[in-house]
Amino acid sequence: MRDFAERVARRTMHASRIRHYSLGSLAFVAVVVLLSGCTTPRTDVGAPKIVSIEEWGGVRVDMRATNARAHVPTRLTLHHGGVAFLRDRDPMQYLRNLQTWSRNTRGWADIPYHYLIDLDGRVYEGRNVLFAGDTNTEYDPKGHALIVVLGNFEEVEPNPAQLEAVVSTMTMLARRFNLSADVIAGHKDFSAQTACPGKSLYPYLTNGFFQREVAKRLKRD
Ligand SMILES: [Zn+2]
Repeated sequence: MRDFAERVARRTMHASRIRHYSLGSLAFVAVVVLLSGCTTPRTDVGAPKIVSIEEWGGVRVDMRATNARAHVPTRLTLHHGGVAFLRDRDPMQYLRNLQTWSRNTRGWADIPYHYLIDLDGRVYEGRNVLFAGDTNTEYDPKGHALIVVLGNFEEVEPNPAQLEAVVSTMTMLARRFNLSADVIAGHKDFSAQTACPGKSLYPYLTNGFFQREVAKRLKRD
């Protein structure tokens, strides 16, 4: 009887050791996962959450099958939509329309911009950033990563969420392509034919706000 009790006790201990062992393994796996998280490059610290083409319901264009030119961005160039973007407008529907217009009416490979920012500062994926954008003006957008804030900043002021989205998108691109904040500029710095990105958004470039904020975040790495 005592033997039996001992055997049961031993078996229970054994079982609990196994349980401890497997809990230990789980803890070990968790630590490894955490550590491997630490060793990945910190390229996306503070990066905006990008709404993908699939999420906004667009077509992911195979850019190699188009006339678009491959490039590696060396400049970060800010635009505005140039037309009023009102609160009741659905940005995803707007993007789908813009893509259809760009491809079917305008004959471009895709949306002319690489990243688009809405009223709430949400950032949407546009054209593949490894292909040059398109423009209605005379400058050559090759080498420019094009960021557009939807709205007409000749008429309205950018809101804090939009300013933050511009900074975080530019920082993400500067990290990815190893650029300094000095390459940040606006469309009208390259074209005499436009007021883009508008008289209320452009001052954030001329007073160095975007350049300063991006430089600050790049230094944090
Ligand atoms: Zn522009």
